[in-house]
Amino acid sequence: MINRAAELIRESSNPVIFSGAGMSRESGMRTFRGEEGLWKEYSPEQLSSIAGLRENPGLVWDWYRMRLIAGENVVPHPGYHALTYLQEQKGYLPVITQNVDGLHRLAGQTDVMEIHGSMRTASCMDKCGFSAQLTAELFHTGPPVCPDCGAILRPDIVLFGEPLPPKVISRSYELAESCDLMVVIGTSVQVWPAAGIPFAALESGAAIIEINPVQTELPRGDRVISIREKAGEILPVLTGFKERT
Ligand SMILES: [Zn+2]
Repeated sequence: MINRAAELIRESSNPVIFSGAGMSRESGMRTFRGEEGLWKEYSPEQLSSIAGLRENPGLVWDWYRMRLIAGENVVPHPGYHALTYLQEQKGYLPVITQNVDGLHRLAGQTDVMEIHGSMRTASCMDKCGFSAQLTAELFHTGPPVCPDCGAILRPDIVLFGEPLPPKVISRSYELAESCDLMVVIGTSVQVWPAAGIPFAALESGAAIIEINPVQTELPRGDRVISIREKAGEILPVLTGFKERT
């Protein structure tokens, strides 16, 4: 099965990557969902919505600051570096990710579609056009404020109740419908509409290699190879990538 998957990757002329939370977790990125403590008192709507941000910017930004600080020392695992290597080898390898942590870009990948946005930047909530890199220092004295118009800044992730970015979604579906191989990594394929992307690839005739230690919603079949291993361990093998030391 590993050999067959490696061969598919090698021979693919039009592959696409689709990644989810499992990919990040292997790098040690915490998700905080369902954890005990202070945050348990607040709903996702309060912590991750425009309304919540307007009502209580101090609370919401404390939450994002904690997430940012927790992610500061997280670095891409070898699976990410293997994808960067594969992108260099192929010359073209679009990456669609549900993750907001920017690890694909940090590992040097380009053409990354972040369908749930990015925690790496923030922009003006009143849409005056201001945008900046999001660092913990930016708001050490309270919620970060737009230097141009004084409004509160918002993280550039898709917040609760907001639509996914239309351009990113339409390009993702175009890629799914035109690729010959989609490598689906670390996603349970349960959260819609993002989950529709690998199904669109499958329906359009692409082969699927899924890498996930646990069972997912993807069907079994001739064109689906399921590898129940960690991405950080198996991607270097599948791509022929050797860690440069
Ligand atoms: Zn502004």
